[in-house]
Amino acid sequence: MLITENTRDFICDNIDRLEDGELTFRGQRLTSLAKKYGTPLYLYDEEKIREKCRAYLGAVKAGFGSRAKVLYASKAASFKRLYEIMREEGMGIDVVSRGEIYTAHRAGFDLQNAYFHSNNKTDEDIEYAIDKGVGYFVADNAEELYAIERIAGAKDKACRVLLRITPGIDPHTYAAVATGKVDSKFGSAIETGQAMEITKVALSLPHVTLRGFHCHVGSQIFDAEIYLMTSRVMLDFVKDVYESLGYLADELDLGGGLGVRYIESQPTLDIASVILSVSDALKAHADELGITLPVICFEPGRSIVADAGLTLYTVGTVKDIPGYKTYVSVDGGMTDNPRYALYGSPYTILPVIASESEDREVSVVGRCCESGDILQEGVMLPSDTKRGDLLACLTTGAYHYSMASNYNRIPRPPVVILTKDSDYLAVRRESVEDVASLDL
Ligand SMILES: *Cc1c(COP(=O)(O)O)cnc(C)c1O
Repeated sequence: MLITENTRDFICDNIDRLEDGELTFRGQRLTSLAKKYGTPLYLYDEEKIREKCRAYLGAVKAGFGSRAKVLYASKAASFKRLYEIMREEGMGIDVVSRGEIYTAHRAGFDLQNAYFHSNNKTDEDIEYAIDKGVGYFVADNAEELYAIERIAGAKDKACRVLLRITPGIDPHTYAAVATGKVDSKFGSAIETGQAMEITKVALSLPHVTLRGFHCHVGSQIFDAEIYLMTSRVMLDFVKDVYESLGYLADELDLGGGLGVRYIESQPTLDIASVILSVSDALKAHADELGITLPVICFEPGRSIVADAGLTLYTVGTVKDIPGYKTYVSVDGGMTDNPRYALYGSPYTILPVIASESEDREVSVVGRCCESGDILQEGVMLPSDTKRGDLLACLTTGAYHYSMASNYNRIPRPPVVILTKDSDYLAVRRESVEDVASLDL
């Protein structure tokens, strides 16, 4: 691969290549990081995470006023240091499990600013969240509202609740991550009348303080029109509820889902312009409907952390199957990145050291005993790629560490965070003893 002006143009501005051919991330040499921490290795660019938080916060405050909120959907990447960064940046968070609540609590995050999601909170989850002082529940259905009522009632507490509403919008994205359609395991649909029904239920329960509505129509959305449609449908619902039940929502949470650039052919979305176009449209629509706009929340996960992440691997076996293809195996795989196996997600994979030899098409695969353990097919890598070479998979900050597993009893990689001129460990590498530590 020759270094040309063209190959210097990377999908994100924190990636670059030095004159000597080495790839850098946030200005740091990847060979040094690999030597210091080993591979596979998750790297995060702290400045990029903070830049994204500020882009969202700046835009929502400019568009919707100072009470508007940005909640980081922490399922995208959840570990203590990340919650500290969210706290420092003035972000709220969304959490979906006791593990996330516990981690945020350990990071000193004020859980009053946490919203507890999930389509199936167990009684233990609800009790734990109340005891830890989680500020808001996002209730998925009527059954859950009754459970919150029962548990909060027994503790003589009231819970602030948003209701997860399904606006009936198909964001034309991957089926597995499309959740705004009526047929979904998430939320209660406007179309079926269930949304109005659970609103009635919520208003009737003494230990439930209804705060408003929530929706999240899907993920990896590039078309701002989806948000305009969704927010209009949701505001219409707010108005309908006001007319039918006399209840005016205080908060309207429009979810997350903004797309990020994994490969060159995808665009880079400008966060501020998407938010500002939603705010223009929503303000105009609120005027048309003659209602006060509720406090608006956005709940991005992927677009906060995805391109702040990069995974480093070391090449092992390179296998040519004449007449078929070439497999380049790395020391990680579906255990640190299950997204190709789950959704066929595209990625950009680059050699850390540029080579003069011609590129050829290969499949980059993991080390697990599973033929679906593929990181990416159709990757162009130098034909002299060999054992010991380093590869970088870009845009791995979202749904990688958080989806990692110990399949084949493979220990999970560490998380190292880069600042402009230093690096520090945020999560240490798992050992084989860690992996076996629960066995009695
Ligand atoms: C996953 C999820 C998000 C974040 O989605 P991204 O695509 O990562 O921005 C926000 N809200 C809810 C309810 C979610 O389930």
